[in-house]
Amino acid sequence: MKTLRIRIKDKHAKALDAMARDVNMVWNFINELSLKHTLRTGKFFSAYDLNQYTTGATKEGLNLHSQTVQAINEEYATRRKQFRKRRLRWRVSKGPKKSLGWIPFKAVGIAYKNGQIRYAGHHFSLWDSYELSQYTLKTGSFSQDARGRWYVNLCAVPKVKLAHQLSLFDGSVGIDLGLKDFVATSDGAVIEAQQFYRDLEPKLAVAQRGNKKARVKAIHAKIANRRNDFHHKLSTRLVNSYGAIFVGNVSASGLAKTRMAKSVLDAGWSAFRIMLQYKGDCAGVWFEEVSEAYSTQTCSSCCCLPPERPKGIAGLGIREWTCSECGTNHHRDVNAAKNILAAGHRRLAVGIPVLTAQAAAIG
Ligand SMILES: [Zn+2]
Repeated sequence: MKTLRIRIKDKHAKALDAMARDVNMVWNFINELSLKHTLRTGKFFSAYDLNQYTTGATKEGLNLHSQTVQAINEEYATRRKQFRKRRLRWRVSKGPKKSLGWIPFKAVGIAYKNGQIRYAGHHFSLWDSYELSQYTLKTGSFSQDARGRWYVNLCAVPKVKLAHQLSLFDGSVGIDLGLKDFVATSDGAVIEAQQFYRDLEPKLAVAQRGNKKARVKAIHAKIANRRNDFHHKLSTRLVNSYGAIFVGNVSASGLAKTRMAKSVLDAGWSAFRIMLQYKGDCAGVWFEEVSEAYSTQTCSSCCCLPPERPKGIAGLGIREWTCSECGTNHHRDVNAAKNILAAGHRRLAVGIPVLTAQAAAIG
């Protein structure tokens, strides 16, 4: 089961805004109702109790699927219990304190067809980066971000257990994730981290100097979108090109100076690894994280730890180095990727049940 978040095209914002107002109305209604009930009886309503009061609400002009009303009741009951309050915060439909739009639904309330989600008589077009047709959709919600954009969040199960299919490609690759080079591969490809947002950095600096908060927010969102898009394209390309992918288990502790930078880096790396993992699963590509200990310092040609090698924080500044034992000249990150590939191959050689079983069947 995966949780997918997919942007809905902006032309549907108005319809979704209207529904979100209806959701708020239901929420506020049950909020008041359950408070009164508690004051009167000292007891709390369950989601089941709330359903008794809201049955038929969708027939009274609410533009929501009846299952959505039940989903709201369930969410309300869960949150009320979680926060141990007699009543929760009101959901606000307009003004400066407007709540971000939220419309929960259950699997029966939605359907996917031809790039669109059908819900309560509407057909919402999506930027479908996941190819939803390959998933069975479960519960989820529509939600809005601070910039007013709408997304659909879906719990989804891949329809076919594609991991059993074999990839068309049998080549394997090692991948080193890093600070300056986002990706270096054992084949020698190096992709810089900044390349997809460099042009936005001066604009960001100007906006920050001018203290233009909305503009800063917009540029950050744009960078995040581009990064996500870049991760998607790169992971698809890798999965389409190799039969086995090994990635170093890099984390930002020790690499980045501030906590903020660490969390941003870690989030980016793990998002990318997750994409490789699930796209690999779907395409029958072997994916594995391997320990990247010493991957930067070991010479991938002669496997020694030469006395002169990139080490620690200081080593981050070194782009190229020459092995004093065998004389090979290395790009630091490509060398690391080659060592990660070798580590991955050693892991495979030790024996993976699936492969062994296949070998036995063939042999
Ligand atoms: Zn060497």
